Amino acid sequence: MWKVQLFKLNFDGRECEAVAAVLESGWLTMGERITDFESEFSNYLGNGVQSLAVANGTAALHMALLALDIEPEDEVIIPALTFVADANSVKLVGAKPVLADCANLDDWNMSVESIERCITPKTKAVMVVHYAGYPCDMPAIVELCRKRGLKLIEDVAHAPGATVGGRSCGTWGDIGCYSFFSNKNLSIGEGGMVTSCNPDLLQRLRYLRSHGMTTLTLDRHKGRAITYDVAEPGLNYRMDEMRAAIGLVQLDKLPAGNARRKELTERYRHNLADSGIAIPFANLQVDHVSAYHILPVLLPVETERNAVVEGLKAEGIQSSIHYPPFWSFTAYAGQFSSADAPIATAICDRELTLPLFPTMTDEEVDLVTTSLRECL
Ligand SMILES: *Cc1c(COP(=O)(O)O)cnc(C)c1O
Repeated sequence: MWKVQLFKLNFDGRECEAVAAVLESGWLTMGERITDFESEFSNYLGNGVQSLAVANGTAALHMALLALDIEPEDEVIIPALTFVADANSVKLVGAKPVLADCANLDDWNMSVESIERCITPKTKAVMVVHYAGYPCDMPAIVELCRKRGLKLIEDVAHAPGATVGGRSCGTWGDIGCYSFFSNKNLSIGEGGMVTSCNPDLLQRLRYLRSHGMTTLTLDRHKGRAITYDVAEPGLNYRMDEMRAAIGLVQLDKLPAGNARRKELTERYRHNLADSGIAIPFANLQVDHVSAYHILPVLLPVETERNAVVEGLKAEGIQSSIHYPPFWSFTAYAGQFSSADAPIATAICDRELTLPLFPTMTDEEVDLVTTSLRECL
């Protein structure tokens, strides 16, 4: 139906073979593919971080909040411009999400100043999102959290492979939370990862992932353990072996995929220069490396976004919006006001996401940008 889809999987025969090998092995969950995927992901991130594979990105966020003892009455600062999973997970542990605004119309991440404005005596944690794959100012945010005694969670769903000064996003805070949903840079379908450098937090995350149990089925199968204790109440947020097998193949493709996303993004920037359409993060700091997850643009103020969406659709080009303001959803109605985050509100009104995926061709970018210019 689409000439240019918003996103396409970067799959070939290798993913199929990897899954088939798991099915033939007769061991379906929490086996060697999981431990391999976790250790290879940790090596990829570096900085001595350890990784635990989990069911999805939202499970990772929920576990992070529980492991950091976020409780009712606590406030957690989250970006206004993000996917609703951040607010939902904070709400579901009974805490209150507080919205930090974007830094400005070019840097759409929350800034140290916008976080600082939200701090109250009830603030317990900050949850940062590296929007579209572009890193937040992590050295300054880590320093602020240290000074104010706040926990720091990184939602790295957009940014596996992004770095600041050579250090991976997801290894700066107390806990990093990754998503491997179909349309992320590393695609599994459903899947995620939690990462930490803190052995106590890692132990708690292990318990939360698997019913609080002190041994795994595999340990008992291998005769390493006879029974188990339950150390604390836990959930079942485990990943299975088929998903880990896909994850290992996808991790192998991630560096080249991110590099291609960067080339395509540069082509978009070149093609849309002087068009009246702005692509954010034009002034990426020299020591920041993006994962180029999506290609968001800011339409001119006077442009009717729906007409552009329809115009692109007529040319066979799919587009999307990242994100509608989540505080206008029914579940959050009346709880926040646009005045809490005026810059994010302006961006939400004018944002449009264009196709970006590693197997996209230069010609497809040209088709999108030509069609977009015609729509204006
Ligand atoms: C995708 C995404 C999530 C949720 O991940 P799931 O694996 O779909 O649960 C959370 N935060 C952000 C910013 C995301 O883009």
